[in-house]
Amino acid sequence: MLKVNKELCIGCGICEDNCPFGAISIEDGLAVVGDSCTLCGACVESCEVQALSLEVQNKQVQEDLADWKGVLVFCEYRHGELAPVSLELLGIGRQLADRRGVLLSALLLGHETAETAQLLIGHGADVVYLAQHEALGEFRDDSYSQVTADVIRQYRPEIVLAGATAIGRSFIPCVATLVNAGLTADCTKLEIREQDGALLQTRPAFGGNIMATIVCESTRPQMATVRPKVMKQLPFDGARTGTVVDVVLTEKQLHSRVQVVESVVEEAGNVNIQEADILVSGGRGLENAKGFELIRALADTMGAKVSASRAVVDAGWIPYPHQVGQTGKTVAPKLYIACGISGAVQHVAGMQSAETIVAINRDAHASIFNVADFGIVGDLFEIIPKLIKKIEERR
Ligand SMILES: Cc1cc2nc3c(=O)[nH]c(=O)nc-3n(C[C@H](O)[C@H](O)[C@H](O)COP(=O)(O)OP(=O)(O)OC[C@H]3O[C@@H](n4cnc5c(N)ncnc54)[C@H](O)[C@@H]3O)c2cc1C
Repeated sequence: MLKVNKELCIGCGICEDNCPFGAISIEDGLAVVGDSCTLCGACVESCEVQALSLEVQNKQVQEDLADWKGVLVFCEYRHGELAPVSLELLGIGRQLADRRGVLLSALLLGHETAETAQLLIGHGADVVYLAQHEALGEFRDDSYSQVTADVIRQYRPEIVLAGATAIGRSFIPCVATLVNAGLTADCTKLEIREQDGALLQTRPAFGGNIMATIVCESTRPQMATVRPKVMKQLPFDGARTGTVVDVVLTEKQLHSRVQVVESVVEEAGNVNIQEADILVSGGRGLENAKGFELIRALADTMGAKVSASRAVVDAGWIPYPHQVGQTGKTVAPKLYIACGISGAVQHVAGMQSAETIVAINRDAHASIFNVADFGIVGDLFEIIPKLIKKIEERR
């Protein structure tokens, strides 16, 4: 906590001026700390009379820490199929479990989805917990939270991973609250710390300008969500064997206040950019919405889909589902062609996993060239028509 030494404070107001969060005010000649204090320490550094100090309180270490073992992945099943992020999480879960020398488990909630267990085992799971019931056939926040929290309480995994999907984002915070754990959302990297086996959870912070590594060393489980396409799934191994455990469900767990009236699958059409092998992506260099006609023409020639930077989505040139980046989608196509995109960190965060990146930009110093495998310096309005012509000729 931030402490004000009343003997030393002279009420000069320097701390008030330096607080980036407006959390300090001077009242009756003394600094007073408000609720918006984030303990950033800017005031402590600015105080010329050393009247402010940050006191770090050692968090109480959970007594049964050593009883929590294993990695558990929440596997998402929706609209009759397993969400691909589940297999990606099993891929990273396998690495973490091997580093810790523990089992990797998968938790699958649903109705008549039991045949998926073998797929999960083939992709790395040692154990599959199957929670099967008609009432779990459709996603419901409250019942999914209860069942997942009870499985965690019963089997005590040290690490719990879930997809940062609409479903994961909706109910995993509730699970974390029920099991009294912290939760790191949207991790881009997960590793095991050598000395104590703690999970290092790395994610972008402060608008993507820094990467923060978060460690929950005093409590279990350590919970994290990961966006689709950030981790890589393991190839299916049909020879792998594992154990399938039926989760015994109670009326109380299945009771839900949510009534699902209808479930409608969104017409993804040309918008499902996360599944595309090739993406042609447009940025502000296109000048206006009409510029996307050129991007679409190139995409059509290559059987690709169209994506975009946030700048052009914000400008209304193309709808949000096409946006790549920190506040858009994370994509990992075989080929990503960035046209008139500068390569801001928030954009790169969403496309740097692409196998091959081609950048077209008239500014030779644009940051996009730092991540590109092939760079073309020039005017996209000249280059793209030539590219289209070349591709058509080769056909
Ligand atoms: C919290 C936060 C989250 C964000 N999330 C995202 C996100 O998810 N996705 C995202 O994309 N951004 C995001 N941003 C915005 C990001 O910081 C950039 O502003 C944005 O990516 C810039 O888009 P751009 O590259 O299209 O535009 P610009 O930065 O304006 O770049 C345009 C580029 O086009 C080039 N150019 C211009 N004309 C031509 C031409 N004729 N031929 C060739 N090249 C040309 C220019 O040299 C320039 O490099 C976020 C920002 C914040 C603060």
